[in-house]
Amino acid sequence: MAVAKLIDGKIKAENIIEIIKKDSLNLQKEYNIKPGLAVLIIGEDPASHIYVKNKRLKAESCGFYSTQHTLPNDTSEEIILNLINELNDNDKIHGILVQLPLPKHLNETLITQAIRPSKDVDGFHYMNVGKLNSGKTSDAFIPCTPAGCMILIENELGNDLSGINAIVIGRSNIVGKPMASLLLKAHATVTIAHSKTKNLEMLASQADIIIVAVGSPNMVKASWIKPKAIIIDVGINRVGKVIDGEIKMGLTGDVDFNDACNIAGAITPVPGGVGPMTIAMLMSNTLSAARLSAGLEKSTSTKEI
Ligand code: NAD
Repeated sequence: MAVAKLIDGKIKAENIIEIIKKDSLNLQKEYNIKPGLAVLIIGEDPASHIYVKNKRLKAESCGFYSTQHTLPNDTSEEIILNLINELNDNDKIHGILVQLPLPKHLNETLITQAIRPSKDVDGFHYMNVGKLNSGKTSDAFIPCTPAGCMILIENELGNDLSGINAIVIGRSNIVGKPMASLLLKAHATVTIAHSKTKNLEMLASQADIIIVAVGSPNMVKASWIKPKAIIIDVGINRVGKVIDGEIKMGLTGDVDFNDACNIAGAITPVPGGVGPMTIAMLMSNTLSAARLSAGLEKSTSTKEI
């Protein structure tokens, strides 16, 4: 039986990070600008703290100036908004990121929209959302996870997806919707499926590309997959897995990976697929923010999207 090609997001991300390191160094040499990333984390969610630490370490490894602002769970909206305003006005900071999810008493919309669009490296500000939806991405920040998925897709199929059917399963503002916009921009014919969609299996089985971002382990079965389709698995689920003969907590995606490998043309693993690309795109967006602040074009590491 045919075995799908494994799409190695880790290696692709490492290659992108190497480009970013060089570009960052050149920016410092030629323009005396060191890209700066500020990350805010509010509360004690352990997974969020791991993500933030990884982002900080990656920013440092890229030669960026990096600050982390760790605030207690009961921090008021006013304190956070004041801090964002200070960072908006701080010339050493080019990118600002607020780690989600936020504690329940905080208004996520108010906080993410307070970040100046030119520093919104997560791409959540309505200005950046609007630019992406209008196909005007030359100075817009694209949300990191779909940006990373798009690079993986382009690696397989090139950047013209004319005549290709893609299905995006999941319609979140962070992944599903921007993913669909990027696919449309590349001329794919796009179906967006979500929790209210009927006949999902039938719709998925017609797609040349399936991108799934639901958070439901092993949801996409081999029977849903068209032979040779490209499968991008965004889902991250913590489940009990047999590792070295013992059941341990491990990560799995939204695709029934082992069976899917027998029918798909190419597939991203979890972990090691989309995850590393997300953090690479955050670095790329931060470098782009620094470059745009100097009147230059965005970073070449994401030029293709
Ligand atoms: P979300 O909860 O905001 O959205 C989930 C989406 O799935 C919703 O739009 C919902 O309509 C849809 N959905 C739920 N049940 C469904 C069903 N039965 N059939 C079809 N659609 C259904 O989640 P999110 O933030 O978009 O994240 C989705 C997954 O991707 C999670 O597992 C998350 O951890 C993961 N994620 C991974 C990365 C990464 O870097 N790899 C980044 C972001 C999110």
